[in-house]
Amino acid sequence: MSLQPKFHLVTYGCQMNKNDSERIAGLLAQLGFVETDNENEADFILLNTCSVRQSAEERIYGKMKDYLLLKEKRPEVIIAVTGCMPGRDKKRELKKRLRPVDLYFPTAEMVNLPRWIAELRPDLVNSDDQESDYLKINPRRSSLSQGFLTIQTGCNKFCSYCVVPYARGLEKNRPLADILQEARGMAESGVLEITLLGQTVNSYRASDPENFSRQNPYSDKGFAALLWELNQISGPKRIHWTAAHPNSMSDEVIDALRLPKQVNYLHLPVQSGSNEILSKMNRKYTREQYLEIIAKVKAARPEIALGTDIIVGFSGESAAHFEETVSLYKDVDFDISYTAQYSPRSGTLACKLFTDDVPKDEKKRRWSVLQDLMEETALRKNRAFINREVSVMVECVQNGIASGLTGEMKLCKFPCADSSLAGKIVQVKVTQAFEWQILGDMVV
Ligand code: SF4
Repeated sequence: MSLQPKFHLVTYGCQMNKNDSERIAGLLAQLGFVETDNENEADFILLNTCSVRQSAEERIYGKMKDYLLLKEKRPEVIIAVTGCMPGRDKKRELKKRLRPVDLYFPTAEMVNLPRWIAELRPDLVNSDDQESDYLKINPRRSSLSQGFLTIQTGCNKFCSYCVVPYARGLEKNRPLADILQEARGMAESGVLEITLLGQTVNSYRASDPENFSRQNPYSDKGFAALLWELNQISGPKRIHWTAAHPNSMSDEVIDALRLPKQVNYLHLPVQSGSNEILSKMNRKYTREQYLEIIAKVKAARPEIALGTDIIVGFSGESAAHFEETVSLYKDVDFDISYTAQYSPRSGTLACKLFTDDVPKDEKKRRWSVLQDLMEETALRKNRAFINREVSVMVECVQNGIASGLTGEMKLCKFPCADSSLAGKIVQVKVTQAFEWQILGDMVV
């Protein structure tokens, strides 16, 4: 055994998984582990999985051949799998294809890791002390200036195509006091941008509303009031959140978009522009209701950049249904869309009730139509920034070029020789614009 045990952690999927991995890394560091990029020298290998698409799960199965060989050479290495795969695999059907895996547990059970590792490898860990709530484990953040803050886990919405309610359970909101304590800790350690995470983050309800300040102007005792409290913490300059659900975009949440630290960006998944498809997806809003929310958002913050998620080729989506999505895209004038080609997920209602009847090539074609539309729109919108100043959170400085995101979540690059600017927010005057990036010069 090496002097200090080593762990190798691979994260798939969304920002929530990344934040969960930061907690696992924090927990393992407390147990005396150090991280390694090389799985061949690790004592403990952990894959944090995603189940949103079949391809994400296939990648995990693909790793198993390597791990069987690794186990032959080093039987003592512990291999663990957490995240959405074990979360949704209540009957452990998927586990059958993961033979070399020793530990297979849903995310919230990471609290048991000290005990499980001590049982399997008493030479690595000799303490089995554990926290009862995994969200109280201190994350080991990869960035000093940006940090994720999970405010909610699980989801009650049961969109017919989605595995999340099965993989992560029903919606559970963290107490306000815990969230504010974590946010103050982030502020003290220099975090400038906080990203609030939840599956439907804007449906947040505080279980301890008595902890809201008396001066808080929002009466919802929910997400808008939380945003106001976070705006009062000195230090962080930007607050960003994902992902929102249209049905929880209350008037108060829309009003809170005008709070000073709110980034100039809203990500509001729409999934389809057709009422028939939205109903089959169990999204519980109509195209008209979505457009009404967008109109209110634009009235509250006229220059806000808008992003969305769209699924093309959902069961029963005809060419005419798809055209309704295209027209909605144009009506809203989105800055960006994360478009996915529908793939049925076992265990979901859509998989049980509907046939996956849109051919693969047609899904790809629809995806390309939206992709082209997005590029055209993004270029036009980015060109509107030329000669204007934007604030940029610098993520890195490499080879004389700094890059980071603007408040509109657009990639911006500018010449910069000072690597100490990484992690700082600076003003940049935009000189050129392309589909996926804008270029400029720092304003000094
Ligand atoms: S809102 Fe729908 S798509 Fe989003 S996590 Fe919940 S069930 Fe899944």
